[in-house]
Amino acid sequence: EADWDLSAEAGDESADQGSALPQPVLAVVGRPNVGKSTLVNRILGRREAVVQDTPGVTRDRVAYDALWNGRRFTVVDTGGWEPDASGLQAAVAAQAELAMSTADAILLVVDATVGATGTDDAVAKVLRRSKRPVLVAANKVDSERAMAEVAALWGLGLGEPFPVSALHGRGSGDLLDAILEALPTTPRDTFGGQPGGPRRVALVGKPNVGKSSLLNRLAGEQRVVVDSVAGTTVDPVDELIEIEGRPWRFVDTAGLRKRVNTASGTEYYASLRTKAAIDAAEVVIVLLDASEPVTEQDLRVITQIVEAGRALVLAFNKWDLVDDDRRHQLERELDRGLVRVPWAERLNISARTGRAVGKFAPVLDRALESWDTRVPTGQLNAWLNEIIAATPPPVRGGRQPKVLFATQAQTRPPTIVLFTTGFLEAGYRRFLERKLRETFGFSGSPVRLSVRVRE
Ligand code: GDP
Ligand code: GDP
Repeated sequence: EADWDLSAEAGDESADQGSALPQPVLAVVGRPNVGKSTLVNRILGRREAVVQDTPGVTRDRVAYDALWNGRRFTVVDTGGWEPDASGLQAAVAAQAELAMSTADAILLVVDATVGATGTDDAVAKVLRRSKRPVLVAANKVDSERAMAEVAALWGLGLGEPFPVSALHGRGSGDLLDAILEALPTTPRDTFGGQPGGPRRVALVGKPNVGKSSLLNRLAGEQRVVVDSVAGTTVDPVDELIEIEGRPWRFVDTAGLRKRVNTASGTEYYASLRTKAAIDAAEVVIVLLDASEPVTEQDLRVITQIVEAGRALVLAFNKWDLVDDDRRHQLERELDRGLVRVPWAERLNISARTGRAVGKFAPVLDRALESWDTRVPTGQLNAWLNEIIAATPPPVRGGRQPKVLFATQAQTRPPTIVLFTTGFLEAGYRRFLERKLRETFGFSGSPVRLSVRVRE
């Protein structure tokens, strides 16, 4: 019995390695009724409407995507975090503490028509300790006349107050400009490629699994394999192959065919080439030999692809050699071996007969679509709150970590950052990923969940 069972645990460490920075987070804090929700709506431009809630009921959605001058950031309305009735001042101070530990910048909203209250002063005192930039919005400045009250808010000790009317929009442009200036810039999704150009596919698999045969089959029967004349051609690195009338860029196929020639090439060399092909690709087809037991080498390559964060398609070749017995045996092997990639689509093909080779295009398309998916922050948090309400994170060391909110930091592959008050166990993270996939799909793509624990 092959010892290739990749337990789900094996992936736990990589699950938390998300190096991706979430888009910058702006937390909005302030007393009830100063206009936080109205201002958040204004900042969002009503792209994702904030649902007004029944008073006293915790808001079930707290984080949203905002876009201003071409820059994206996440707005967190901390009103939803108002804790138990330990007094208003304590509650707002707790909000501010949370904001300071999770946000990249903080917006304190004050009602200019009321002026700074004792609670506002107390919060400002907490915020003055913040290492993050803090901006003050003097809200409800609906008219020039109301400007008179604004200057008094310098007294909060947080710099120049920005007069705004969340209700009418007055001053919100200047405030947004200042917010962008305060927020750090994050790298864009970095995976390059010309938009609209051919997608990059790598075809990998162990020697003799049928890679060259499949490539020939995809490229058309009549194509000549030129590398039989060793040394006479400069191999192109990539090859454009048309599937279903559309070109795809198969990366590093030159190396692939070179290996066929130098069949004695070391495994080390082959594995380096596989790694290079995976890195160069957006989606990887792993070719497996359906007529033989799945090998450790196959599973190592799959792990490599997941860790590299590439979309994945599994193709079981030589299906013409598979009988009923072998098929049942294979199912058992896959149940054990592929526990980490239940989301990968499988094709049963034969490069020899052409069976199912025409199905590659839709399967590759679906995998890439998942890989490119961005779930809006509001939608993500609506989902998250529902899941957490039904199944909260397990208590650890007597404490129950709270999941505050989530944003999708990156696509390619989808990378979700959870902001929490404590460590989330690997089992719970896997549960969240499973639930995430039930709702949003992501079939064919790895998904990364990373956890940002507030200090
Ligand atoms: P929150 O509790 O801080 O989220 O406050 P809301 O956004 O729910 O607003 C509280 C009340 O203030 C609502 O009745 C709003 O319509 C009102 N309000 C919010 N912004 C403004 C503003 O700029 N001018 C005026 N006049 N009223 C506002
Ligand atoms: P590569 O080393 O992965 O590029 O594999 P090749 O394309 O050179 O194929 C290795 C051997 O498997 C050759 O003898 C092929 O004819 C054979 N082969 C490839 N695909 C199939 C298939 O679908 N069915 C069968 N029965 N044999 C295949």
